[in-house]
Amino acid sequence: MYKLAVFGNPIEHSLSPDIHAQFAHQLGLKVDYDKILAPIDEFSKSAQQFADEGANGFNITVPFKLDAFNFATELTLNAKTAGAVNTIKIINDQYIGENTDGIGLVNDLINNLKIDLKDKVILILGAGGATQGILLPLLNQKPKRIMIANRTASKAEKLQRDFSAYGNTCGFGLDKIKDEPVDIIINATSASLDGKMPNIANGCANGAICYDLMYGKQTPFMNWAKDNNASIIADGLGMLVEQAACSFEFWTGSKPDTQAVIEKLRR
Ligand code: NDP
Repeated sequence: MYKLAVFGNPIEHSLSPDIHAQFAHQLGLKVDYDKILAPIDEFSKSAQQFADEGANGFNITVPFKLDAFNFATELTLNAKTAGAVNTIKIINDQYIGENTDGIGLVNDLINNLKIDLKDKVILILGAGGATQGILLPLLNQKPKRIMIANRTASKAEKLQRDFSAYGNTCGFGLDKIKDEPVDIIINATSASLDGKMPNIANGCANGAICYDLMYGKQTPFMNWAKDNNASIIADGLGMLVEQAACSFEFWTGSKPDTQAVIEKLRR
């Protein structure tokens, strides 16, 4: 029996227990996957208690990904560059921190949406935790260039400096986005959570693949993409399931089928 959980605050809305139950069922594994509401300033205490109860690992969601980064005793390269941890695997007294968000996005783009990222020009909106997590896995696919545009330009410029060793990146303010088509636009801002659309030039969406990291509803970004002739429009549900599948494989060594789970959640 694998003893697993997701920590967050709030956590009631989390789809992770359902997703992992479906993975376990598919693979015939015994998994007990709980959701744990940790008090805001007591993540480490809650995580340690769960580990002491014999847990094999856990996921971490908002607002504890940085706490989990500090809790881990070892970090994968993904986790180090992301500066955040969404998955911990426990081996004896070692807590190995991984970040599967970026690999989840890349797997959704390549395997589910059949998008080849090589030599593409990618525009990422936002320079928060999600952008930091997806940059290395995206750059590993050898795009022509990744442009990071953020409301606060200095944060995009910092990410450009931090990631320039891994590929061709540039960072600037949202107002500097040109009115010209790009291949792929990824909305990694939290504007959709507030029902808002970042204020950017319309022309960049023409013929582009537009992907919103948010899932669960049609967002203003997705409406904007449709109004401005995007070729493909997707939300972040596939990324959610794919990042969960990477965590599941990290813990158990078994790779689940994600397609069936994505289809079931969409229904
Ligand atoms: P952060 O709080 O770290 O960053 C938020 C970013 O959004 C900042 O760059 C901020 O700009 C920008 N922003 C917020 N409001 C606006 C606005 N009105 N106009 C323009 N820019 C805005 O959030 P995260 O990076 O952690 O998360 C971003 C999104 O990604 C969320 O919607 C989250 O749900 C989603 N996500 C989805 C996942 C999935 O599995 N599908 C996984 C992880 C995240 P500024 O710096 O100027 O404040």
